[in-house]
Amino acid sequence: MREELSERKSQEGYEWQIIEKIKETHDTYTYTLLPVSASQRFNFNLGQFVTLYVVLKRPTSTGGFEENLATRAYSIASSPTRNFLELTIKEEKPYGYINPKTGKSDAFAAYFNQQVKIGSKIKLKLNQVKEHFLWKVDAGLEKNVAYWSGANGAQSARSLIQYMEDKKDPDFSLVLFYSNTNLHTDHANLDIIKSENQPVDSLNVIYFNWLINIAKKLENLKVIFTFTREQEIPALSSTDPKVIYRKGRFFLNPDGSPERTLLKYGNNVETSFNPICGSSGFINGTVRLPNGTINRGKGVLQNLMEIEGIKPEKTDKEQFYLEQVDANQ
Ligand SMILES: Cc1cc2nc3c(=O)[nH]c(=O)nc-3n(C[C@H](O)[C@H](O)[C@H](O)COP(=O)(O)OP(=O)(O)OC[C@H]3O[C@@H](n4cnc5c(N)ncnc54)[C@H](O)[C@@H]3O)c2cc1C
Repeated sequence: MREELSERKSQEGYEWQIIEKIKETHDTYTYTLLPVSASQRFNFNLGQFVTLYVVLKRPTSTGGFEENLATRAYSIASSPTRNFLELTIKEEKPYGYINPKTGKSDAFAAYFNQQVKIGSKIKLKLNQVKEHFLWKVDAGLEKNVAYWSGANGAQSARSLIQYMEDKKDPDFSLVLFYSNTNLHTDHANLDIIKSENQPVDSLNVIYFNWLINIAKKLENLKVIFTFTREQEIPALSSTDPKVIYRKGRFFLNPDGSPERTLLKYGNNVETSFNPICGSSGFINGTVRLPNGTINRGKGVLQNLMEIEGIKPEKTDKEQFYLEQVDANQ
C-alpha cells in the first residue's frame, strides 16, 4: 500500500518550496528546497536528477510575453544524507534569446532565475532510471573517483563532496578535474550586468570558493582547475597542495603533445572510476555547427580511453546538453 502510494507520487510529481537562493556567478544560482509537507518528501541517490515543471513568462518576437509551462532536468547538487535538496541552475541561452523558427523564447534557466523567488513552490519529478549517473558510487562499488566536469557539470560532484563530509568513509577519495574557460567573466557580460544594476561579481567558476575551502577540510578531496582560454594561469596562490591551477585543455601538454592528466594528478589510474559531466563537446567532442550539422570529435571520454587506457566500465557520463558552436568561435 505504502509502495503503491510512493509509486503514484513519483509519477504525479512532488511539490517543494524554495527556502534559499544564492548567486553563484553572473548567470548561475543555487536553490535550496524543502518539501511543502511530509507527504511530498522522497529519498534520492547520488547522481540522480529531477525534472522541474514551472510556469514561466517568456518573450516573443512581436515584443510581447507568453506565460506557459516549461520543464528542464537538473542534477541534484546536495547529498542524499541531508534533508533538503539543492539545485544549481546555469543559464546557457541568453535572456531574450528568441528561437528563429518559432518566434518565441524557448530558454528556461534565464527566466527561472529571474522569476523564481524564496517561497516559490515548484513541481518536480525524480528520474527513476536504475543505472543512473554515479549509481556505482552510490552503491559503494566505486570509491576512488576522478570526476571530470565541464563549466556546467560539477553539481553531482558537489553532492558527492557533501556525502563524503557526512559519511567520513576513509576509503573514499575524489579528484575533481574542473574545466572552465576563464576564472572571471568577460567584459561584455559584465557590461550587461552593470546595465541591469546588479551587483558586479565577476567570478565565472561555479562553486569556486566553496571548493577551495572544502578541499582544506577534506583530506580525500583534490581539485584540479584548468582554464582553457586564459593566456596565463590566473594569479592565484594556493597554499593547499590539494588545489591545483593550470591552463589549457586536459590531456594536452603546452606543446600540443598528449598528456596523461589522470596519471599526473589522479590517485591510481588502475582503480579510478571516471564520471564525466557537462556538454556533449566536453564529454565526447560532439557539437552542433552554426549550419545545423553535427560534428563528432573527441572529448574526455575518448581521451581517457585512448591516452590513459581506461576501460569503458570505469567511466560514466551525464550530458547536460548538445553543445552549440557560435559562428565566431
Ligand atoms: C540529466 C540532466 C541534468 C542536468 N543538470 C543540470 C544542472 O544541474 N544544472 C544546470 O544548470 N543544467 C543542468 N542541465 C541542463 C539544463 O536542463 C538546461 O539545459 C540548462 O540549465 C540551460 O538552460 P537554458 O534554458 O539556458 O538553455 P536550454 O533551452 O536548455 O538550451 C540549452 C541549449 O542551448 C544552446 N545554446 C547556448 N547558447 C545559445 C545561444 N546563444 N543561442 C542558441 N542556443 C544556445 C546550448 O548549446 C544547448 O544546446 C541538465 C540536463 C540534463 C539532461
